[in-house]
Amino acid sequence: MDRFFTQTTCDRCGESLKGGRIMSMFNTDCICLKCKEKEQLDPEYSKALQAERKQVQKGNYNYKGIRGK
Ligand SMILES: [Zn+2]
Repeated sequence: MDRFFTQTTCDRCGESLKGGRIMSMFNTDCICLKCKEKEQLDPEYSKALQAERKQVQKGNYNYKGIRGK
């Protein structure tokens, strides 16, 4: 099972993921919705979104994000 679905705490702030989880747009972190909100305010968010979209169009669904390792 993918760690994304089994972990219980946010990779970024360490809070519980009870309120919901989502994949970061910048890397493969599994983050809480509060962190996602903060991420959307990042000046590079639209750049990350476009990069992700490009990779998916190429058929790469395992793209690690512009800040991924
Ligand atoms: Zn968080």
